[in-house]
Amino acid sequence: MTYTPQLLIITFSETTINYIALAWLALAVIMFPKLLKTKSPYGRHLEPSKGLMIDNKLGWFLMELPAILIMLWFYLNSTNNDNKLVVTAFALWMLHYVNRTFIFPLRIRTKSKKMPVSVLLSGVFFNLMNGGLNGYWLAYLAPEQSPDVIRSPHFIIGVAIFITGFFINVYHDSILIGLRRDNTGYKIPYGGLFKYVSGPNYLGEIMEWLGFAILCWNLPALALLIWTAANLIPRSLNNHDWYHEKFEDYPKERKALIPFVL
Ligand code: NDP
Repeated sequence: MTYTPQLLIITFSETTINYIALAWLALAVIMFPKLLKTKSPYGRHLEPSKGLMIDNKLGWFLMELPAILIMLWFYLNSTNNDNKLVVTAFALWMLHYVNRTFIFPLRIRTKSKKMPVSVLLSGVFFNLMNGGLNGYWLAYLAPEQSPDVIRSPHFIIGVAIFITGFFINVYHDSILIGLRRDNTGYKIPYGGLFKYVSGPNYLGEIMEWLGFAILCWNLPALALLIWTAANLIPRSLNNHDWYHEKFEDYPKERKALIPFVL
C-alpha cells in the first residue's frame, strides 16, 4: 500500500521503508567490528591530521540540527497526530535533540577546541537517515492506536526506559562538563554511576533509544538503537582504556559501559 503524504515529492510504501531500515541496520552490524578497532576522532581522541576542522561547539550544533528539523517537518506534515503513541514518540525525540542540539553545545567547556568536518558530516548523515526513517514511519505508517495505548505495557515500559536513560545521560554529561570548571585538562570523574562504569552518559543514551524502540516497535527505531550501540560501545571501550593509560590511580573495579559486565 502506498501512502501519499502532502508536500512530499517521493512516497514510500511500508515495505520499502522496512527494507531501507533493514539495510541501514545491517550496515551498523557490518561496520561494528571496524568501529571496535577505530577511535572516533573527536574530543579526547582528536587527531589534528584529520583534515578540515570546525569549532567544536558549532560542529555539535550543526551536526545535530538536522535531527530536529527533519522531525519537526514530519510532525507538521503528519497524518497521525491524533495517535497518542506517535505524538509521544515525537515529543521524546524532541526532548533528546533539543538538549543535544541547543543546550549541550552551550554547556560544554571546549573553547578553542576543534572537530573534524568529516565527523560533522558523518553525524549529519546519521541524523538524516535516522530522522528520515523514524519521522516517515511516525508521520505516515504508524498503525492506528486506541487512546488506551498509553496504558499498554510497551508504551509504559518504553517511555520509562527512555526517560530514565535521558536523565542518566544528562546527569553524567553534567558531571563531565563540571570537571572543566577550572579550565584545566581531563580528570577522573566520580559520582553517580561513575562508581560502576567509565561511560554512564553513553549507557543513558543507549537506554533512551532502547526505550524508543520498545515504544515504537518498528525497524527504523531498532536501526537507530543498533547504530547508537555500534557507535557508543566502541567509544566507551576506547575511553575506558584511555582513562587507564592516563591515570595510574584509575579505579580498577570500574567497568567500561555496563555495571559488573562490560
Ligand atoms: P564525552 O564523555 O567524551 O565528553 C562529554 C564532554 O565532557 C566533552 O565536552 C568532554 O570534553 C568533557 N569531558 C569528558 N570526559 C572528561 C574528563 N574526564 N575530564 C574533563 N572533561 C571531560 O562524550 P562525547 O563527546 O563522546 O559525547 C557527548 C554526548 O553525545 C554524550 O551524551 C553521548 O551519549 C552523545 N553521543 C551520541 C552518539 C550516538 O551515536 N547517538 C555518538 C556520540 C556521542 P572533550 O570534548 O574536550 O573531550
